[in-house]
Amino acid sequence: MVAELISVGTEILLGNIVNTNSNYLAKKCAEIGISVYYQITVGDNEQRLIDAVKTARSRSDLIIITGGLGPTQDDITKEAVAKAIGRDLVMDEHSKEKIQTYFNERKQGSITPSNWKQALKIEGCQVIDNDNGTAPGYIVEDREAIIMILPGPPNEMIPMFENSMYPYLAKLDDKVFYSKMVKICGIGESQAEEAIIDLIEKQSNPTIAPYAKAGEVHFRVTASANSIEEAQQMMEPIIGELQRRFQDNIYTLEENESLETVVISLLSRHGLTVTTAESCTGGLISSQLVNVPGASDVLNEAIITYSNGAKMKYLGVKEETLTEYGAVSEQTAGEMAIGAANLTKSDTAIAATGIAGPGGGTKEKPVGLVYIASYIKGKVKVKELRLKGDRTKIRRLTATYALDLLRREILNYLNENP
Ligand code: ATP
Ligand code: MG
Repeated sequence: MVAELISVGTEILLGNIVNTNSNYLAKKCAEIGISVYYQITVGDNEQRLIDAVKTARSRSDLIIITGGLGPTQDDITKEAVAKAIGRDLVMDEHSKEKIQTYFNERKQGSITPSNWKQALKIEGCQVIDNDNGTAPGYIVEDREAIIMILPGPPNEMIPMFENSMYPYLAKLDDKVFYSKMVKICGIGESQAEEAIIDLIEKQSNPTIAPYAKAGEVHFRVTASANSIEEAQQMMEPIIGELQRRFQDNIYTLEENESLETVVISLLSRHGLTVTTAESCTGGLISSQLVNVPGASDVLNEAIITYSNGAKMKYLGVKEETLTEYGAVSEQTAGEMAIGAANLTKSDTAIAATGIAGPGGGTKEKPVGLVYIASYIKGKVKVKELRLKGDRTKIRRLTATYALDLLRREILNYLNENP
């Protein structure tokens, strides 16, 4: 099923509000395996909306429209859809009663004739109650497409979609949807897509939808079938193929697991403790770990050593190392990790030192040059990163890659010491 999203509102066109509705709906569609091919924004202009609906109807099976359902003159969505598909607007008695009750309960002013405009529905459509406002939503089943119309305010749109539209879509073929999130760290977005371009191109059911996150790529794999078991079975070969291609770059298949939850659970399952030693990230790594409930079981200490002096004083980084190789070097990162583990008697440690910018870069050591190190029971691994972006992005990416380095090294350690 091919879907198209239409957002109505001049405010969106002007950039005065951010189109969070489309963002939300696109994700929801991906979740249930509906492919969104177009996202259109139209101002509060009847003719242009009519044109947009006609175009959408000619190329999409499902059209989801948000906004422009209010009581005022510039709210034209229903009128435009009715004209585009050649149906009339008729009074809906149920909506009329609801509006009456809504005003009685809230005692907010009196009903104006324009409020009754909200009780008009497109002939033959299904009216969807709005529990959080006065504008109902609509589902219009047309020869060409299913058209869903929802109010613009997200606090009305989202509950309506969740409670009524989503179940409607899921039930369309009596199909159930089942999805897994293949979360990958350590491979760039385009490289990751390149690696499975053949799978993406020939996908139908299950579908594969990519999402990029700073330093990570996620692929949502969704199968629709007659039962969960059947959907799971359909999913297995494709998940297996992704695992073969991405190997240990995949850190989880679970939607609700983040990189830091995976690291924490690896540590705690194997009775390992960790200490962080951070320079350019200034506590970001430890703060990410602390986000996870249960971090206290494994996180021994979090040390921030920003200056050279602190690196020597707390972590025992050698003065010669700093003068010979510099604070941003493979050698310093390694000594930071060893020092952190020794000082706090931890089984593992993570360290990061780098140039986050915007100043401080040189030709030899440009902004974005970062060294991350992991220590696990005597074994040190240092990795050089050359990151792009502003200060915030460089620091975030460093934290992500550092956590990922520790994750990989724990897995290696467990392989070598079963
Ligand atoms: P109302 O009855 O409030 O007029 P409506 O259905 O007519 O609702 P609009 O007038 O288009 O909706 O938008 C009302 C408000 O809802 C906007 O001012 C904005 O705050 C929010 N909104 C509308 N569309 C979007 C969108 N696509 N993304 C996020 N917010 C939106
Ligand atoms: Mg409005």
